[in-house]
Parts: sequence; structure tokens; C-alpha cells
Amino acid sequence: MDRGTIRLEENVTQTLNPPAHMLIDGTWLPSVSGRTFSVEDPSVRGRVIAEVARGDGDDVERAVAAAAAAFRTWRKTTWTQRGRALIAIAEQLETSGEELARTLAGETGAAIRTQARPEIALTAEIFRYFGGLTSQLKGETTPLGEGMLSYTRREPWGVVAAIVPWNAPASLSAHKIAPAIAAGNTIVIKPSVEAPLTVLALARICQAHLPKGVVNVVTGSGADVGMPLASHPLVRKITFTGNTDTGKALLHVAADRIVPATLELGGKSPSLVYADSDDMRVVDGVIAAMRFTRQGQSCSAGSRLFLHQDIFGSFMSKLATRLSALKVGDPLDEATDIGSLANKRQFERVCSFLEDGIAQGARAVVGGMPPASGPLAAGYYALPTVLADVTPAWRVAREEVFGPVLVAIPWKDEDEVIRLANDTHYGLAAYIWSRDLGRALRAAHEIEAGWIQINQAGKVQPGHFFGGQKQSGLGREGSFEIMLENYTQRKNVTVNIEP
Ligand code: NAD
Repeated sequence: MDRGTIRLEENVTQTLNPPAHMLIDGTWLPSVSGRTFSVEDPSVRGRVIAEVARGDGDDVERAVAAAAAAFRTWRKTTWTQRGRALIAIAEQLETSGEELARTLAGETGAAIRTQARPEIALTAEIFRYFGGLTSQLKGETTPLGEGMLSYTRREPWGVVAAIVPWNAPASLSAHKIAPAIAAGNTIVIKPSVEAPLTVLALARICQAHLPKGVVNVVTGSGADVGMPLASHPLVRKITFTGNTDTGKALLHVAADRIVPATLELGGKSPSLVYADSDDMRVVDGVIAAMRFTRQGQSCSAGSRLFLHQDIFGSFMSKLATRLSALKVGDPLDEATDIGSLANKRQFERVCSFLEDGIAQGARAVVGGMPPASGPLAAGYYALPTVLADVTPAWRVAREEVFGPVLVAIPWKDEDEVIRLANDTHYGLAAYIWSRDLGRALRAAHEIEAGWIQINQAGKVQPGHFFGGQKQSGLGREGSFEIMLENYTQRKNVTVNIEP
């Protein structure tokens, strides 16, 4: 096995030796300190599947220097060169997708059929989308008079620092790498210590089609790698996905250096069901909105279900029936609908929210505390859970659980439910279910969220404007316009053509 290879064994049971290295300047390197950290398979407690280089400020220094050096030539490549590279990455992602999906399932517990494969397919689509847009970095001219030529250029920023979480490591990284390098920037990515392997595998595919130093990965903790990276004087743009408190800390760093920052943060999104929507199509939609097959570990999870009181009992019983039929189990089993939670920290977090809610009087209509014995107790598994008899002020109804815990709250007055939906410091997503489109659209315009879906609960597609209002974020990701906004700056050149 070459030293950069992080291929996992078929059944994801082997500790890797040598450890997975970081990608810096086109080379796979151990950390300067020589230290490593372990990555565990969350579907089997205590099973270590890899050792990964534990980076720190010295590694950040090397990676940023490599990215800055690569920028000098990458920024001058033609749009066809950059477009071809991105499309080639997309194609390799399509052909090697299964290996990547298994790596993802192995380190995050994502079910291979329902989550891991679709995420890798989305990752390929993101590269393909931005690969087709490299010719569109156009400028404008300003009419200053016949003797003057005044025009703008869209220029890349330089070195981009990208910090990503563990919940969808491949697609969230792609949302940063693809538009950044398409626009002529170079990038240093810091994955989560809880899911570095998929990002390293993605970087290996990128590296096969790019000059050295254009994409670099430094693995390690937020304090050891994330902070030094975001604070590095050669970093010209910060893009972050993760929780709101980390986002605030990074915004301070960006403010100190007057560096632009895009922040994709947490959510506690409402799913609003009107009385005309008591049917299985909507039940399935609410389950999709809650991202139950991702164990609810999605920033856009519709985790507060506001059900009209006239259909509360009937809808809840259909929801319970449908959720009970979902199979929780081994992420690599094709029959599994829902894999494990992504790590021990996440498992403890979900348990603490459940304990709190139940102690306050919440009733688990389906699910509840994770099983303490049997096959699921061998890993960090949780059950899809719906809590009724919940008061909106409780912690479980206000804070982001980031797990498969849906709270259901009845409503009767539309103004009141919109007030409740907006009564949160988050504003990422919302889902509205009604056959009356006029009413649904009026509600959509009242709800404070960056992305509202009506009568559907799809995932983010390339081309979407994705991002949060309020404390769910700053800026957007996903579309062509956002590539221009996030990864280029305008330069104005004014020429006197009759000197
Ligand atoms: P996190 O903020 O703890 O970690 C995210 C990344 O930031 C990791 O790589 C981590 O190592 C790094 N980090 C942590 N502290 C840091 C610091 N002080 N300085 C620099 N880097 C630091 O988040 P998480 O627990 O990994 O991810 C879950 C969160 O991410 C949830 O809140 C979820 O809603 C959010 N999220 C948001 C989106 C979105 O698009 N809005 C998408 C996915 C996840």
C-alpha cells in the first residue's frame, strides 16, 4: 500500500499501518511532529479503523506555503484547463464512487444504500457542475466616456482555508473545493478528526488531476489545525461549515484580519403541516425532511414538527408506523435504512437530549433511548424517535440535537405557528406541507429561513443557493453566482485610451 493510500478493507476492520498521511504540495506526508490520532468505526464501539497524521501549526505552515506557491500559476491557467480538471475529478468520482462510499460508511456510520452512495454521487455532481462554469468568470465595462475604457476582472482571492465537519464530509468539502479551484484559487482543507478518511480519499482523486499544491489537506483538531489555518496571514478567504459557536470564533478571526468568511452553521428547522395534509405522502416527506436515514445528523433536518391539531393523532400514528418499519443496523448492509450515529460524542449528546426531554415529561411515540443490549448496543446506534407532549421552550425543542429526535407540537392558529417557527436563533431551512399553494407560499414568505421547501424535502442540489439566516450562517453556497461572490473579487481597471 503506498503511503498516501487510505483504502479501507472490504469489511472495514483493519487498523491501517502505516497511518494515513496529509496531502501537502502534492505529496503524502506524516505530521511534522510525527503524532497521529485514531479513527473509529462508530458501528462497533472501540474498533479503530485507521491512524491518521495529527497536524498542528507547523503542518499548516507547510500547506499554506504550498497553496500560495501553487496559486501563482493556477490563477493563470485557462478556463478550459480548470474545467477539464474538475470534470475529470467528477468522472473519477463516478467510477471510484463505491470505494469512497464504503470509506464514508466505515468512518461515519452512514448507511451505504441510503446515505453514503448518494452523498458520493452528489459530490461528483458538484465537481461536474462547477467544471462546466469555468468559462463564465466574466467582467463588465463601465461607460466613462468615449476616450475611456473601464472594465472589471473577476480575480481569485488566493489561498482559501476550508474547515468542514464530519456529517457529510465529501459533499461539504466539494461545495468548497470545486467552486474555489474553478475560480482559480488554491485551497487548504481541514476535515473533522471524526471523519478525515473520506476527505483524504477525495483529495487523492483531486490530486490525480491537478498540479501539486492546488488542493492540500491538513488533518488534526480545531485548536491545533483549524485556528492556525484560519489565522494564517497568507489565507485570503475562510469558508467554514460546522456549529454556530465555532462559526462565531472564526468570524472574530476573520474580522481581525479583514478576510471574507462564509459560514454554514447549525439549524433547528420547522416542518409545518396543515390540516389538509394528513396523508402518507406527507408522512414520508416529514421523515425525509428530518433526514432520519442520516440519523438526523443534518444541518437542514426539519426537527420541529408543527402538526395541525385536527390531524395530530392520526398523523402521528402513521408516522410511528412508517418509522418503525425502517431498519436500523450495520451501515454496510444493503438492507439497512439507517446506520449508526457518527461517533461517541454524538451518541452521548443524543442520549442527553432524550433523557432531558423524557424527564421533563415528553412521550416517545416511537423510538426512545437507544437499546442497552442486543446487536445495536454494540455500536453507537440510536432509534428514530418522535417526542410528543413537548413544550416549545424545552431544550430538546430549542437546541440542535443533530440526531434522530423529532419533536411534535400541535397548533391551531396560523399566525401563532409561524411565530413559533420563527422563535429560534436559527434560520437555516423550513418545510411546509399544504395542498393550498397560496397559503403555503404566504407562510414561506413569513418564515425566517434560508431555504424553504413546499411539499417536498429534497437534498441540496448543485445550483441551489444554500445557507442560513440569523445564526445559521453568513453567505451562501452551491450556485454559480455564489462561486463568483465567494471565490472571486472584482478589480476595476480604467484606461485613458486617448492620452
Ligand atoms: P464543529 O464546529 O465542532 O466542527 C466543524 C469543524 O470545525 C471541524 O473540522 C472542527 O475540527 C473544526 N473546529 C472546531 N473548533 C474549531 C476552532 N476553534 N477553530 C477552528 N476550527 C475548529 O461542528 P461539528 O460538530 O463537526 O459539526 C456539526 C455542526 O455542523 C452542526 O451544528 C451542524 O448543523 C453544522 N453543519 C452545518 C451545515 C450547513 O451547511 N449549514 C452543514 C453540515 C453541518
